[in-house]
Amino acid sequence: MLPTEVRKDRMLRDRKGRVAKKLRISVTDRCNFACLFCMPEKDKISWIPTKEILDFDEIERVATVLASLGIEKVRITGGEPLLRRDLEKLVGKITSIDGIRSVDMTTNGWHLESKAGALRRAGLRGVTVSLHSLRSDRFARISGVDALPRVLRGIEKALDEGLKPVKINSVAIRGYNDDEILDLIEYARERRISIRFIEFMPFDGLGMWDYEKVVSGKEIIDAVSRRYPLVATGRGSSETSSIWRFGDGKGDLGLITPMSEPFCDDCDRVRLTSDGKLLSCLFDTEYHDLRSILRNGATDGELADAILKAVWKKPDGVGYMPWIKDGWAKPRNMNAIGG
Ligand code: SAM
Repeated sequence: MLPTEVRKDRMLRDRKGRVAKKLRISVTDRCNFACLFCMPEKDKISWIPTKEILDFDEIERVATVLASLGIEKVRITGGEPLLRRDLEKLVGKITSIDGIRSVDMTTNGWHLESKAGALRRAGLRGVTVSLHSLRSDRFARISGVDALPRVLRGIEKALDEGLKPVKINSVAIRGYNDDEILDLIEYARERRISIRFIEFMPFDGLGMWDYEKVVSGKEIIDAVSRRYPLVATGRGSSETSSIWRFGDGKGDLGLITPMSEPFCDDCDRVRLTSDGKLLSCLFDTEYHDLRSILRNGATDGELADAILKAVWKKPDGVGYMPWIKDGWAKPRNMNAIGG
């Protein structure tokens, strides 16, 4: 039962008093890459059937209801979001929703060179491109596709088009690419791009995650500060990254540390999966089905009530799940959740 104060103030408040302001929308679980820390083996993938995937009007409707409940910022993700045809149309719809202040996207970069202009014209603010190696052969081994030059061209194009911010996301995995942290940083610094290292989380389809493979934020700072003087600026309220500025003024470095230093107490994010499930916590196993509510003729008020109830039950977060380190049955692979 929803408490009276939530029914009255109609904000996305949970039991701990956290209020959601940001929404990640996964527009597809499909990806043309097969990053080894994300997707299962090719012959073991079962994609979400097309008829279960929300169309753009349905996504717009859920986003509009969420905006009426206080969501202000949207990030479009996937799977690979740019596999959705005419994605710029969805960007245009979402940027036009009352209350939405910014729409950004996370992408593997494959279609960025051809799409950056249309996305910017549709109102996309910034783009985060995943880049885990600068060595062609290793990039291909990690992502399953020999695409490094194309992804790098996509990053340049995003910068030329004026998308802002352009950022890089990198997952450092021990024994795979942890010897490239400084090279990736240098690449980002030369272009004044912010780079974020995300700790490896147990959402991989191959089941290769174990704590030994997680390169912690602290390890990264120790290694980087041996080469570059760093100034800690901390983690802004409800942000995912702890930011370190380079002492010489050439940009900054972010660390996203859900495994070693979780940041659940001020989490202000909710997720909508491509098949219309609302997820109030990345690590939650309870998926709230909005698609059937939408498709069964519910009013916006009924949809809003279902969303408020789902968010109210948001779990405390990974920081309160001690079992995570002892092996854990993950809910879905990252490509189907939306990172
Ligand atoms: N296809 C897009 C991409 O490659 O950026 C967007 C979706 S991807 C799931 C979103 C982000 O999640 C990427 O930056 C990716 O590196 C990250 N990611 C995927 N699996 C992860 C895992 N097991 N642990 C940490 N980050 C992961």
